[in-house]
Amino acid sequence: MTDRRVLHGIGVSAGTASGPVAVVTQAVGIDEHEAASVDPAADGERVREVLEGVAASLRERAERANSESSKAVLEATAVLATDKGLIRGIDKELKKGAGVTKAIHDAVEVYAGKLRKLGGYMAERVTDLYDIRDRATARVRGLPEPGVPALSQPSILVAEDLAPAETATLDPEQVLGIITEAGGATSHTAILAAQLGIPAAVQVKGIAEAIIDGPVVALDGGVGEVIVAPTDSDATELAERSRRRAAALAGSSGEGATRDGSRVKLLANIGTAEDAEKAAKYDLEGSGLFRSEFLFLDRDSAPSLEEQTETYTAVLRAFGERRVVVRTLDAGADKPLSFADLGEEENPALGRRGLRLSQAREDLLDTQLEALAQAHRAVPESELWVMAPMVATVEEARWFAARARATGLPKVGVMVETPAAAIRSAHVLEEVDFASIGTNDLSQYTMAADRMQGELAELLSPWQPALLAMIRETCRGGEATGKPIGVCGEAGGDPLMALVLVGLGVKSLSMAPGKVRAVRAALRMHDFDTCRQMANYAVDARTARDAREAVLAIADPVLRDLL
Ligand code: PEP
Ligand code: MG
Repeated sequence: MTDRRVLHGIGVSAGTASGPVAVVTQAVGIDEHEAASVDPAADGERVREVLEGVAASLRERAERANSESSKAVLEATAVLATDKGLIRGIDKELKKGAGVTKAIHDAVEVYAGKLRKLGGYMAERVTDLYDIRDRATARVRGLPEPGVPALSQPSILVAEDLAPAETATLDPEQVLGIITEAGGATSHTAILAAQLGIPAAVQVKGIAEAIIDGPVVALDGGVGEVIVAPTDSDATELAERSRRRAAALAGSSGEGATRDGSRVKLLANIGTAEDAEKAAKYDLEGSGLFRSEFLFLDRDSAPSLEEQTETYTAVLRAFGERRVVVRTLDAGADKPLSFADLGEEENPALGRRGLRLSQAREDLLDTQLEALAQAHRAVPESELWVMAPMVATVEEARWFAARARATGLPKVGVMVETPAAAIRSAHVLEEVDFASIGTNDLSQYTMAADRMQGELAELLSPWQPALLAMIRETCRGGEATGKPIGVCGEAGGDPLMALVLVGLGVKSLSMAPGKVRAVRAALRMHDFDTCRQMANYAVDARTARDAREAVLAIADPVLRDLL
């Protein structure tokens, strides 16, 4: 029997869950100890059987897929798994004396090289080919296939880390919670978990080892606590936490405002039309960030003008007269697009991502802007705002604003995600109508700390005074130009940090819909002057820890139940 253990990580999606674990396995690679092939014919036969097995399991997953596009991808991958050229390549490597897993890897590499040379659609199949390689290798080694396993009962997923594409396809009915050993608090995986309303904790060191016997696990995604093999009193304590939280949330409804009536719009972050429909049912004031690139990911070609228009129209319809802020395509770095690959980059996060990719592929941006304009005409009562990601200069803001306005879009803005845009915000804002601070990226670029690196969590904390100083500068630009500044990074969904942001001058906060109630309740407990005081304390603090403690010390004690 597994002993009870308590592990701590970083809570990234509030809520409690308890249930059996399902382990998401990593790809295993070549078996370093395997013997060279002495009977290539027999080994070839074994590889054929393995690949048949991979194809069959992919077909089975395709049948269960919840979207047409993932179904099509899985079916196409199943066909590729039994491709004759691939099998011939593996036979050839076996005849040269390679062991089975090495033969698979080498043959896949040769095949991938050929596909890359062909370019276009064929080059895009390389990812699928690697998926087949990893699944086949695991089978040969008698290990579970990598990726999210098929769940036979609602479970808590435990993974080293999850790719955004994997997280996006999770079924919230089946996945009770997510625990990762690595992963960052502002990684897109964490963001998607909050989006799906799945309790989640990242950076839970030791979790993989603690669950080797497959026990039940309890998770508090608010504080990032994980209890392996929880006792009855753990269950009672967890229930008590939920009760106190519910009491602190009671009566949190309506428009966002401080206790003395300073208005703060509370908005939802969304990634799909489906999200929009779900979020619109919440008591909130619209969407402050529609991450439109999720429509483009995991596809072989860009969505057409018609498809995009249909999606954006559905999003605007869902929110009626409420505001919807659409961020144009923000691909690159951890969200690569196979059909807009600008080639290998040493540092993709510093490369041609976000607006820079749009400048290299104007066709993609223009189609998107046209689709947004058409959607706006179809839903004239909607309040559509459109903004560009990763803006660093006045010229970029001007370039984007001119293009967006040319299509007739009424409200054009930029995201402030680079220190350059933050410290020159007044100049950047002169070109546009509004700005929204992406604290996830602003934090990554201010602290020179990769947001995907869970180990750098402390540097990436939104409480870092350097980040807060960047936000203050951005808000000063907003005041100087009379243009509204919002926050749509993860920081806005933290009830305590929300008070600081409002004190700094932020007019709207956008977050996972499930976080709105707690943020609204926190605002209602405090006057604007207290928020301003909190902001001053936080920016003037010497360390991130001091900043948070100083703010917590003057916050209403009930607020602690919301954290
Ligand atoms: C951000 O960077 O804070 C942001 C909202 O954009 P994303 O997280 O999608 O990069
Ligand atoms: Mg960003």
